[in-house]
Amino acid sequence: MEIRIERATTLKEKPKAGEALGFGKYYTDHMFVMDWDRGQGWHDARIVPFGPIPMDPASMVLHYAQETFEGLKAYRTKDDRILLFRPEMNARRFANSNRRLCMPEVAEEDFVEAVTQLVACEKDWVPAEEGTSLYIRPFMFATEAAVGVHPASSYKFVIILSPVGAYYPEGVNPVKIYVEDEYVRATPGGTGFTKCGGNYAASIAAQVKAEEMGFTQVLWLDGVHRKYVEEVGTMNVMFMIDNEIYTAPCDGTVLPGVTRDSIIHILKSWGYKVNEMHLAIDDLMKAGHDKTLQEAFGTGTAAVISPIGELRYKEDEVTINDFKTGELTQKLYDTLTGIQWGDIEDTFGWTREVK
Ligand SMILES: *Cc1c(COP(=O)(O)O)cnc(C)c1O
Repeated sequence: MEIRIERATTLKEKPKAGEALGFGKYYTDHMFVMDWDRGQGWHDARIVPFGPIPMDPASMVLHYAQETFEGLKAYRTKDDRILLFRPEMNARRFANSNRRLCMPEVAEEDFVEAVTQLVACEKDWVPAEEGTSLYIRPFMFATEAAVGVHPASSYKFVIILSPVGAYYPEGVNPVKIYVEDEYVRATPGGTGFTKCGGNYAASIAAQVKAEEMGFTQVLWLDGVHRKYVEEVGTMNVMFMIDNEIYTAPCDGTVLPGVTRDSIIHILKSWGYKVNEMHLAIDDLMKAGHDKTLQEAFGTGTAAVISPIGELRYKEDEVTINDFKTGELTQKLYDTLTGIQWGDIEDTFGWTREVK
């Protein structure tokens, strides 16, 4: 893939060292853009100055939500190298999402090449302070101007970058989770396994409800029986019960997280038994009461690991590990972030240096 580069004539002022970066507050000087239409396929791959995207009000994405995205990070190591973490996993998942939404696929090597070249171009934007990183947001949307429902005949694939702060500036802390038994996130045959904007639009009401009641996030139950645990907020979820790990299988309604997959590999390498199975909420609450539920945590690129300190299901409530971050949870966090930031030897071969 040939990528044309058009450099910005004026560069933005970068956030100062020590300044709170937040999440998505700053964007870099350039973005990657590539167009697709039915006649030409993908064409005109380019890195151009970051800026607005002109758009017809009839663009199909605005009406029928043909939109997919990805999320990954670039990390600066102590010896000033820039690392990506398993970008080919995001490329593959992006292709799966696009296939489900009848959108064109980007070849795995082109996706990785676009991410790599853009990050290389914006290297100076990868922050250096402990726990900070450069968030990478690839996304695709339908641009054809039409209001009939059909697969659009034109799309844009765009990548933007945002330097982001440490997710836990004060160390990893457990959160309170509300088990959602009214709204659902995904159903069999639906789009639960894809990263598409529509899934998020539909999930916001539950998030708002949980926050109003004083919880940080919701635990999603399956959409058919409202019985089996699936995910927590926008993260996969794992439980340690009787020294074994339980997490929902990726069989259509669960997003196959890169963090989930990496944590499973690490756990297995440590000799843990990982059960990818449907776990009933009643069994989980029972394990919480009889204290066989030892630890619980969400996994995702943004936070890496988010420990769960409390679960509320209808009128029932359990506290996990006295609302403290579990030993295994902390060890997993330290190990995975250690690999991502290049502090621990990457025996799995997951990181890729951007030169
Ligand atoms: C992105 C996402 C995850 C986590 O995936 P990672 O690849 O680990 O970041 C989990 N669940 C949902 C619903 C997501 O959108």
